[in-house]
Amino acid sequence: MDFGLSEEQRLLRDNIVKFARGVLCEGAGARDRDQVFSRDLWRRCAEIGIQGLPAPADYGGSGLDALSCAVALEALGYGCSDGGLTFSLCAHILACVVPITRHGSDEQKRRYLPGLCDGSFVGAHAITEPGSGSDTFSMRTRAERQNGGWRLNGTKTFISNGPVADVAIVFAVTDAAKGFQGGITAFVIDRETRGFSAGQKFEKMGLRSSPVGELALDDVFLPDTAVLGQVGGGSAVFATAMDWERSLLVAAHVGAMERVMETSINYARTRRQFGQSIGKFQAVAHKIADMKVQLDAARLLTWRAAWRLENARTASMEAAIAKLFASEALLKTTLDAVQVHGGYGFMVEYEVERALRDAVGSTIYSGTSEMQRNIIARWLGL
Ligand SMILES: Cc1cc2nc3c(=O)[nH]c(=O)nc-3n(C[C@H](O)[C@H](O)[C@H](O)COP(=O)(O)OP(=O)(O)OC[C@H]3O[C@@H](n4cnc5c(N)ncnc54)[C@H](O)[C@@H]3O)c2cc1C
Repeated sequence: MDFGLSEEQRLLRDNIVKFARGVLCEGAGARDRDQVFSRDLWRRCAEIGIQGLPAPADYGGSGLDALSCAVALEALGYGCSDGGLTFSLCAHILACVVPITRHGSDEQKRRYLPGLCDGSFVGAHAITEPGSGSDTFSMRTRAERQNGGWRLNGTKTFISNGPVADVAIVFAVTDAAKGFQGGITAFVIDRETRGFSAGQKFEKMGLRSSPVGELALDDVFLPDTAVLGQVGGGSAVFATAMDWERSLLVAAHVGAMERVMETSINYARTRRQFGQSIGKFQAVAHKIADMKVQLDAARLLTWRAAWRLENARTASMEAAIAKLFASEALLKTTLDAVQVHGGYGFMVEYEVERALRDAVGSTIYSGTSEMQRNIIARWLGL
């Protein structure tokens, strides 16, 4: 088994780390404090091809395989200390660009992918509703047949990029009798569509430079050409988005874990108490050794899930395992990093408190840890 990266993958990783450190980190603390999403940085990311990583070159993307995308997103998570921006990019790429690439008609790909890749559009993926989160398919948003199209009504909530999105994939019930299999349809909606609007933007604990909010559909009329995939095929579109998001968003977590671990090593080497560096205390060193074990395990699980996305019949269980392990490892690593930094870790200036706040959501979005365990148990026949 070969665990090495190819020359192209190494170059991709080095370029993204250099770009992220040089361009994306400055001002991250202020953007977090003020909850600012930067369109300027969004465009700068597009200039080096981040938004279009997995999209075909014909539509303005880089056409990378899933494993290379994982390498790229890990590099982004490692180099970029603005966790909100990284999160917004991942939501855009994995839950909007990928489903349109995989399920879109030629017309939809021509219409949306070039703008989603070149940074002119921000994408969102909207399934959660005020009354349906983990129980996703109990959604109340309805799409009714009308004059060669569909009339949509409902409200989506907690939508990443929702407040600034130009394009959104929105799920609605089209046949209540069929339920989850065959009764849900995905639609692609433009920001300007009449009746479609961004509702309140939420104030959050972490990922504060990534805007999250509500999307309202008030008698929105969409033509048949807005259906993504098949009528009744929403569960397949959702499964694609979740498999990619669970496998590759956590690649960015792996990068963040490595950055936070390195910060902790540097601090443990330089901070002195009782006449020696605190890293010489076993209680501190073991915390950092555990960070390394979790980092390596999370990386391997992520690479396996990413590889399976394109080389195996299904990646669903492996994606759930990677998501569960890497998100919980990220949370533990960032909490331990604060502890290693002592009182300084609790202060905003040292950035590890921000990494911890950013990490908390990771065990909730893309399906909570409890739901990942449910998925894994189901695959085990339980
Ligand atoms: C930062 C962030 C970004 C997000 N971005 C998006 C987005 O872009 N698009 C989108 O559609 N949604 C998004 N979400 C929503 C996210 O997917 C939901 O919050 C998540 O699925 C949980 O749903 P809920 O919040 O309604 O919690 P609930 O489903 O109400 O769960 C509450 C608690 O009950 C537990 N629970 C529920 N059912 C079970 C069960 N069967 N077994 C065991 N435990 C269970 C949960 O694990 C959790 O601990 C985002 C959320 C966050 C925090």
